[in-house]
Amino acid sequence: MAEAYRWRCFACESVNEPSSVTCSNCGFPARASGRRIAEVQASKLGAQTRSDLSNSGGAFEKFDEYLRPLSPWRRAVAIFGFAVASGGMIWLKVTFSWLQMGIAMLTFFTGAALMGAASIGAKHHA
Ligand SMILES: [Zn+2]
Repeated sequence: MAEAYRWRCFACESVNEPSSVTCSNCGFPARASGRRIAEVQASKLGAQTRSDLSNSGGAFEKFDEYLRPLSPWRRAVAIFGFAVASGGMIWLKVTFSWLQMGIAMLTFFTGAALMGAASIGAKHHA
């Protein structure tokens, strides 16, 4: 006699009764082909990547909003600070030496401090 197991849906990962032929949550078939499963998982991954992209787009929009009210030279300081901070971040990601990590961290914080200084100064003089 064959033992009946509960099964986990490949598409939405909810657990289903052994008797059910399709997922009770999303209707995905219990015996899907490998190709169908790959398709579903690829589309899930695609959705994730798209939401990541839109998140980073939001960050750039925020940075733009942050720059708009600043006077030109403050904007230049903020952009310079942003570039320095980004450079520090990239350096931090690629380096394997502790000394360079320390310098990269300092670079990042210097850039962040410049960005902060540009906006704090603007608030005081506004
Ligand atoms: Zn499902």
